[in-house]
Amino acid sequence: MKYSDSIEKSAEYLRLALPLMSKQAAALHPVSYAVWYEYVAGRNAALKAHIDDVMQGGLLLDEGVTHELFHKHIAELDHDLAQRVSEGFQKVMADMSHSASQAGDHAHQFGSVLDQLSEDLAESLPGAGLGEGMDTLREQTRNMQGAVATLKGRLDDSRREIETLRQEVAKAREDALADGLTGLINRRGFDMALGKSLAARETAEAGPSLLIVDIDFFKRVNDSYGHLFGDKVIRAVAQILKDNVKGKDTAARYGGEEFVILLPDTPLDGARFVAEKIRAMVERCRIKRADNKETVANVTVSLGAACYRGGESANDFVARADSALYASKQQGRNRVTLAGAA
Ligand code: GH3
Ligand code: MG
Ligand code: MG
Repeated sequence: MKYSDSIEKSAEYLRLALPLMSKQAAALHPVSYAVWYEYVAGRNAALKAHIDDVMQGGLLLDEGVTHELFHKHIAELDHDLAQRVSEGFQKVMADMSHSASQAGDHAHQFGSVLDQLSEDLAESLPGAGLGEGMDTLREQTRNMQGAVATLKGRLDDSRREIETLRQEVAKAREDALADGLTGLINRRGFDMALGKSLAARETAEAGPSLLIVDIDFFKRVNDSYGHLFGDKVIRAVAQILKDNVKGKDTAARYGGEEFVILLPDTPLDGARFVAEKIRAMVERCRIKRADNKETVANVTVSLGAACYRGGESANDFVARADSALYASKQQGRNRVTLAGAA
């Protein structure tokens, strides 16, 4: 769990969370607050849907439900650790299965040698009375082969089971990091991707660069055409972002009508190019209303772009892109501003 909101933003969330939290049946402890903080911050779609469900049923969040929500949607598994453990298991199982397979081969060879030996003995020493002992040996060898084959089968079953579990963990994690409305990753997923990208960064290369995209006068869109149409606009802008990112780029819904794109190995010039393309595509795009097919007045976006400067924190990096976005808004919207030196 990692929070990187500014003091102002977190104070706003506190104001929003307190009245909601104090209405519930659970005590006001840090677990409750984490749940409501995530709820009002709007970046945990699965948690929000779960709470909305409970509230729509006219129920209050008691201790049990609050803790369940916390464990299910917030106290996430350390993915990398889970991944390493599962890979370790897989390798051990594969090695054991391989050893069992080799033991099976040896037992088979041993059985063949015994058969041959018994034939040879019967030919060269007919009536020597070795037959019974040989039969026992052969039978025991077959038993051993059977046991080894069973062991190998069980090991292979376990391996498949671990793989299924691994896929389930990966799916649960994917759901926790997805934005329900647009299918982009959510802010939490983006924060993780940004952290990883900065940690893996080679100092010699340019970038990464960051774009922040915010829909202009979106409140008006909601006010004039309703929230459902607003959602449609958000999805349309998200689609344009998806169409414009490729390979290692990461696009995310950062908040209500705000998006971010991380462009690894990209200098500011490259970021400007992508930003300008997105701006122009949104400007050209026409979104129809479902009821009367009326084409709605232009939607535009403002963008801020920043290129990472060695040594700065993820927060400072995002803040510079955000200031550039603010400048785009100040200068009239529907434009791209590049963040300069601090
Ligand atoms: P600006 O050009 O300065 O960005 O103006 P704006 O109206 O876009 O900015 P503001 O931040 O004041 O308004 C954002 C609005 O977005 C407010 C909020 O009701 C709306 N919003 C946030 N999330 C959603 C959502 O998921 N769906 C819809 N329909 N509206 C949303
Ligand atoms: Mg806006
Ligand atoms: Mg906004």
